[in-house]
Amino acid sequence: MAGCDGRQKSRSYFTEVAQNLPKDTVILTAGCAKYRYNKLDLGDIGGIPRVLDAGQCNDCYSLVVIALKPKEVFGLDDLNDLPISYDIAWYEQKAVAVLLALLRLGVKEIRLGPTLPAFVSPTVLNVLVENFDIKPIGTVAEDIAAMMAGK
Ligand code: SF4
Repeated sequence: MAGCDGRQKSRSYFTEVAQNLPKDTVILTAGCAKYRYNKLDLGDIGGIPRVLDAGQCNDCYSLVVIALKPKEVFGLDDLNDLPISYDIAWYEQKAVAVLLALLRLGVKEIRLGPTLPAFVSPTVLNVLVENFDIKPIGTVAEDIAAMMAGK
C-alpha cells in the first residue's frame, strides 16, 4: 500500500484499510501515502512491525526486492501467485515510473485511487485493464474482502 498522498478527504480510504486489515497481514509501504497510517498503532507480528516502510517513493525498488525473494524461495514462476495485493495511492506524475516498473514485472490487479492518473485516457485505460487487470479502488470493506480472497 504505497504511493502518493494528497489533501482529498477520500484519501482516508488508506487509513481505514490499514485499520481494518486482519492483524496477521503486513503493509509494505513507500512514498507519501504512508503518512495516512504510519502513526497508527497497528501492532507487530512476532516483534516485526506490521507496517514495513521502505522509504521514499524512489525506494519502491526495495519493496520489489522483498516481493521477489519469496517468489524465488517458493520457486514460483509468477509474482502474482504470491499473497500480495497492490493498493496504490495516486497523485504525482513522478509515480508513473514506479507504476511502469510494476507493470514491467508483470504485476496484475493493481488498485489505483482515489483518482486515476491524468494520462489515463479511455484508450490507455482499456489497454491497462485488458493486459494488467488494473482497477480503481472501491470501498474499504469490498477491497479488504477481495484482498483476503487473493485479489
Ligand atoms: S511522487 Fe511525489 S507525492 Fe508521490 S510518493 Fe513520490 S514524493 Fe510523494
